[in-house]
Amino acid sequence: FVSVAPVSAKTYVVGTSAGFPPFEYIQEGKIVGFDVDLMKAIAESQGFEVEFQDISFDSLIPGLNAGTIDIVAAGMTITEERAKVVDFTEPYYSANQALLVKEGSGNTLTVLFGNHNIAVQTGTTGDLWVEENLEKTGILTGKVTRFDTFVLAIQDLINGNVDGVVLDTPVAKRYAAEKPVVMVAEIITGEQYGLAVAKGNKELLEKLNKGLEEVKTSGKMDELLKKYF
Ligand code: GLN
Repeated sequence: FVSVAPVSAKTYVVGTSAGFPPFEYIQEGKIVGFDVDLMKAIAESQGFEVEFQDISFDSLIPGLNAGTIDIVAAGMTITEERAKVVDFTEPYYSANQALLVKEGSGNTLTVLFGNHNIAVQTGTTGDLWVEENLEKTGILTGKVTRFDTFVLAIQDLINGNVDGVVLDTPVAKRYAAEKPVVMVAEIITGEQYGLAVAKGNKELLEKLNKGLEEVKTSGKMDELLKKYF
């Protein structure tokens, strides 16, 4: 008799930062969310396997460049700066920035001005927006605290240590639904999320783009949007 060994599919390591609900978050010890399901659907359509790694947001691009992860799926905004060092797929989600304050604090968007303290997650577009528009201009004279995760930033807000957190709109809305925080302003930045691979990894980028296309045309994308938003 002949025994045939199955050809095992290639496994790609997907880096994410799981404090970004509903895109990626921890539930019962597992990394779940829209990006996780999206990556699984793309993998299924293109015949590869995925394994997830939860690391800090600002370690994702260095991880791609060092080869410790193959793909970034982390609600990452496609920016010119980032596109110099990694390659992005076609966009899969649009977002803006938002301001969260503590429920019952009576705070409004005026916390972005003067002697107020703001928290962000290190290396995000929210972090950059605060730096460029509030810190460098001198509009904000208080402190900006940069956290490894939004989970910690939101906790600091709830504890009353900072007056506001700047983060992506869909995630701000989710936190507002689950925690004693309120979204009081939307900052129109017109961002688009993409998956990222190491610069020049054409083969993988092509698979991801093909997979994304298939997920969109098959109706799977709509199904995931309905499930998470
Ligand atoms: N979209 C934002 C960025 O790319 C935030 C992403 C995140 O925190 N996971 O910087």
